[in-house]
Amino acid sequence: MAVDESKPMGLYIHIPFCGRKCDYCDFVSYSMDYKAQQLYLDALFTEIDMVKRNFYDRTFDSIFIGGGTPSIVYEGYIASLARKIYSSFHFLDKTEFTIEVNPSSFTKEKYFEYVQAGVNRISVGVQCLDEKLLREHGRIQSMENIDETFKLLKNSEFPNVNSDVMIGLPGQTKSSVMQTINYLMKQNVKHISTYTLQIEKHTMLYSKLKKGKISPVKDEDMVDIYNKINKTLTKAGYCRYEVSNYAKPGFECKHNLKYWDDESSYLGLGVAAHSYIDGYRYYNTKRLDTYIDAMNEGKSAVYSKEYVSNEEHRIERIMLSLRTQKGLDLDKFKKDFNEDILRTRAEAIKKMTELGMIEIKDNYLKIKDDYFAVSNSIIVELI
Ligand code: SF4
Repeated sequence: MAVDESKPMGLYIHIPFCGRKCDYCDFVSYSMDYKAQQLYLDALFTEIDMVKRNFYDRTFDSIFIGGGTPSIVYEGYIASLARKIYSSFHFLDKTEFTIEVNPSSFTKEKYFEYVQAGVNRISVGVQCLDEKLLREHGRIQSMENIDETFKLLKNSEFPNVNSDVMIGLPGQTKSSVMQTINYLMKQNVKHISTYTLQIEKHTMLYSKLKKGKISPVKDEDMVDIYNKINKTLTKAGYCRYEVSNYAKPGFECKHNLKYWDDESSYLGLGVAAHSYIDGYRYYNTKRLDTYIDAMNEGKSAVYSKEYVSNEEHRIERIMLSLRTQKGLDLDKFKKDFNEDILRTRAEAIKKMTELGMIEIKDNYLKIKDDYFAVSNSIIVELI
């Protein structure tokens, strides 16, 4: 069962360059130089030309330029990329256009460039205001950079500003996280994403952990931080519409909702990007040199393609829907997977409802607010 192909799609473009590698980073990112940026832009143009004919009859209503650090590329780069995508795909009016920026590379010139390019949503990678902690984990921005970024964005032309906040950095305290949240509320950002740090193998942070140089934040402290954020942001009028994402009403991220609502396809372009189209997932190569070579030789950037089976899709639907405030649409689930989950998972649902962890309302099954912090263990019971 594939998603509804008549719905507008999302377009993701990956910019894989960063000023330096953060200790905790598991994303595909490369240190940048002008030449590599140019070669990469040429390669992106080639990929766009190669795939666009497959989407001539499809519409898009979201663009997300992520990374890496998209704001690090030279001036004019994003404008040029935007012109290329506008001339290659069909976008609906009111298309959401997001770009991720790092305060250390977001300048006045880039601000105007993005306005001109049609960007209407800026996502600022603040993570944490504690400069000492940021330095310890290899992040390059300063408090001055962050202040300058928000000065530029104040009363800006971008209707929606998001900020990412990292929770669980070793050494981070509840008061340090709340200082960041309070700062962002003062800046009147419309959307806040709170990401829990995952310490992945092959990162600098993982090897520091293994050598005993740092210790992870304890689980009970994480739950405490999580609940405090929720209380504070909810009181200030933000709605937690997904387990890690808060927005003022009407400012939810249209692009990310495509992933969570499991209702429309998306096309990913660039190194390490992936797509979900007609029930298949496509993974582009993660190596920059392989990607550029493939484009120069007119070959596909896709290194792997897999069909998402009905069972995999069913599990994804449960996992992703239960991470959202709306929850799992029971009628839709029955229609799409021919399964009445209230019957197939009756025992677990009865137990967790009695414990006050989940509820069924207006034919949606959802996790109750106080239990979002332990959503993973609830979801496991329902799969
Ligand atoms: S800025 Fe983001 S993508 Fe770049 S190294 Fe740091 S965490 Fe990774």
